[in-house]
Amino acid sequence: MTQKLKTQLLDFPVLLIIILLIPLVGFFIFAAIFEPKFFIFLAVGMIICILYLLILRNRLIKKQSEIKLWIQNYREQINLVEASLQQEQIAIESFREKIINYSQLKGLTERLSMCLTLEDTSKTFSAGVNRLFGDKDTTIILYLFHSKTGTLGISSSQKGQMRINIKSKKGDIFDQWIVKTMQPLLIEDTKSDYRFDVERIVPQDARDISSLISVPLMVGNKALGILRIDSPRENNFTTEDLRFLTTIGDLGAVAIENAQLYECVEQLAIKDGLTGLYLRRYLLERMPEEISRQLRFKKQLAFLMFDLDKFKQYNDKFGHIAGDIVLRTMGMLLTDLFNEPGMLICRYGGEEFSVLLPDCTQQRALELAEEARRRISEQTIILRREKTRITVSIGVAVFPKDAQNPKELIHKADQALYLAKDKGRNRVCVAS
Ligand code: GH3
Ligand code: MG
Ligand code: MG
Repeated sequence: MTQKLKTQLLDFPVLLIIILLIPLVGFFIFAAIFEPKFFIFLAVGMIICILYLLILRNRLIKKQSEIKLWIQNYREQINLVEASLQQEQIAIESFREKIINYSQLKGLTERLSMCLTLEDTSKTFSAGVNRLFGDKDTTIILYLFHSKTGTLGISSSQKGQMRINIKSKKGDIFDQWIVKTMQPLLIEDTKSDYRFDVERIVPQDARDISSLISVPLMVGNKALGILRIDSPRENNFTTEDLRFLTTIGDLGAVAIENAQLYECVEQLAIKDGLTGLYLRRYLLERMPEEISRQLRFKKQLAFLMFDLDKFKQYNDKFGHIAGDIVLRTMGMLLTDLFNEPGMLICRYGGEEFSVLLPDCTQQRALELAEEARRRISEQTIILRREKTRITVSIGVAVFPKDAQNPKELIHKADQALYLAKDKGRNRVCVAS
């Protein structure tokens, strides 16, 4: 278009000159031959004409380049406006996404604040993360460090709306990387990420994972676990996703810590600090429930009462702290001996322990009590570099044979225990 205009503008004066020149040349010839006086006027007129035309041409060229410049400027301005419009559209889109994400985050915070137990919290948390990130192919795994052993274990795992069973319970190479570095991790394509050798994944653990994001769950310097999302598709996650997951992780970590503290306080309220066994209060709460359950299934329930023999002498000889060591050892022995589901071991009083055995006959209770008595008496306890042993007396009572309610059952077992003491200690007696 500009080229065309330029040619047109250039052609115009040339044409004009040609059109003017032809009659002028004619006049010249006429003036030179017939009227030489006109010749000078004509020559001056022609020169003025040519000069005027040249000036006109230059002006036109100048005007044309000015117009070209304007056009360029307008184009640049249009480009700038278009680019800023695009940027604003992107910003509006990302703000919209952020608003949606943060309102979902608010919902998750509210749901988490209503959870008390660790189980509830971890289920609510992974369901919430699934709602924010999940699709039918992505897998969400929440790992938590075991409070006592410190080992990593799966707390909940979810694919789409389904719970799934992950074979590598203690995490794979990606989770181990997080444990080692405690840094967020984004893998766009597992096959081309030089940090990980996917060949190292044990075949039975291998799932179809092509990309993932994973963050450590931390409260202050304390590591609580790992929150991970993986996908069978490559490039399924962006750095923005990882940033958002980090925020969610921080939120979840606080909720998990609160749940752990809540469970800790709950345990403190029902468990003895020295032996880790249940307190009498908890036993008295549970006994009616257990009795009615056994009644429903027409089963028997046995109750064993233990008392350490001559324990006062231990305290007097070795000191109170050594006595505590004996009590803790007793706690461990009883936990080891009565380890079947439903068995309830409790520190009944100072050096008295009790065990509730659901679905247990008198015969079986006697066998178990005898086995416990023998194992305790054979256990060597080192106190002040001296090898010692301790014995126990045990009373056995059975519901509904010996008693009709919890109070009576405890009383009967206690009576049997006194009988065992009377008969010389280190023995098992049944209620009469
Ligand atoms: P018996 O064979 O008749 O049961 O004799 P015993 O000495 O065990 O009986 P007694 O009831 O006279 O003594 C119980 C002792 O247990 C007294 C108390 O100091 C001790 N005891 C109770 N609770 C604790 C505790 O938490 N730590 C320690 N070290 N000793 C305790
Ligand atoms: Mg006692
Ligand atoms: Mg005693």
